[in-house]
Amino acid sequence: MYILENITMTEFKKYLKQTKTIVFPFGTIEEHGSHLPLKTDAFTIEEALRIVAKKKKFFLAPVLHYGVCTTTKDHPGTISISAETLRRFSYDLVTESYKKGLRNFLLISGHGGSLHMSALKETAEVLVERLKDIRIAVLSPYDVIWKELSAIAETPNDSHAGELETSIMLYLAPELVKGRAAEEYPKIPKPFTVRDKVKYWPGGVWGNPQKATREKGEKAMKLITDKIIDILGMIEKMK
Ligand SMILES: [Zn+2]
Repeated sequence: MYILENITMTEFKKYLKQTKTIVFPFGTIEEHGSHLPLKTDAFTIEEALRIVAKKKKFFLAPVLHYGVCTTTKDHPGTISISAETLRRFSYDLVTESYKKGLRNFLLISGHGGSLHMSALKETAEVLVERLKDIRIAVLSPYDVIWKELSAIAETPNDSHAGELETSIMLYLAPELVKGRAAEEYPKIPKPFTVRDKVKYWPGGVWGNPQKATREKGEKAMKLITDKIIDILGMIEKMK
């Protein structure tokens, strides 16, 4: 792996002969209950890519620490951006790196929010029409291996800051886990979009962090990193 921000201009030119693949990681600054840090999504995906990097050659761009948050956007600490900002930002990242010779693009997000993911997917749709010789994939591990990840958790329907995310953080950085929040689920009445979301979801947890363990986190990370390795292999072979 070539960590984009650490290499020189000369190294960039040299490594470009070995790979045309760049990975852009996306995260959030977002509440993750009373027990996990605001950077959880960014941190998790960055760590996964560092593990993948030991086995694959690609350029790793710095993680974007801001993303589109919806149900968590009123909670303390969350600093969200709009879908429009994310579309424009990701569009610029790909077109500028295309000008520098890169052709395979992986936009990977540690945050699986639906508006956030659809903003990235919309960008990919536009780019794949405009830049004829690129390969581009947009994914969140929580999207592509949801079934496999769910099988690790004891909590059905576990999600944001719940059993799995807490387990992953316990595995990667136990010093950043401040106890365990209680089991909780958002109570936003379907199908409404509501004001004052905190009222319906005070603790900001979706699932049961009490069931989190380091071992489950290790298993989840293995699934996530194996999947990223697969997808990197696929993108390199695509015509
Ligand atoms: Zn998260």
